[in-house]
Amino acid sequence: MGDIICGICREKIKREPIKKNFGEKFMSYQYLFDSDYICERCYERLKNNWFRYHSWYETKDMLFPKELKKDEVIKFLLNPPEKPFRAYLTKKKRKHGWILVMPYWETNRDVYRVAFEEEIVWVDRKEMREMVKFAKEMLEKGIKKREMLRGEIGWNSMKKIGEKYHEVSDKIKKLAGNPLWRMVMAWM
Ligand SMILES: [Zn+2]
Repeated sequence: MGDIICGICREKIKREPIKKNFGEKFMSYQYLFDSDYICERCYERLKNNWFRYHSWYETKDMLFPKELKKDEVIKFLLNPPEKPFRAYLTKKKRKHGWILVMPYWETNRDVYRVAFEEEIVWVDRKEMREMVKFAKEMLEKGIKKREMLRGEIGWNSMKKIGEKYHEVSDKIKKLAGNPLWRMVMAWM
């Protein structure tokens, strides 16, 4: 018999494997990888709702993940840890989206992935820095978040943008639907 791999973090299971059976309430089976077993650590995390109700990150040498408060998220993403890390971000606090990052340790601080709600989002730091700057400018002008997410600027906002309307509206149209943009807007 070969090594048993954890269906969540994909690491080899060193101690007693736990057969997957998370009960009827568990609705995140689609995130699990192809193994009938999970390791003890992942099992502990599944049982503990802290992991789905908070945004958090961890580095490879940390014993426990650290919570990321709402106003810390953008700063964290623009300046991630030097050591291998992974992060889960949630506002909805519903599902076990953190499962998605468990197989990965990020080592490239300039381009890396995080789990945001129930998807993997790739962060390009340079791109993100520009997005944050642009979003701040727009919010200061009084443009609504939902307009920026939808990519359609209403009449009132148009007037606020003024002369540069076409340029700005094209830019917002292009950004809408970009997962990184959606994530940035969520934490602005
Ligand atoms: Zn595991």
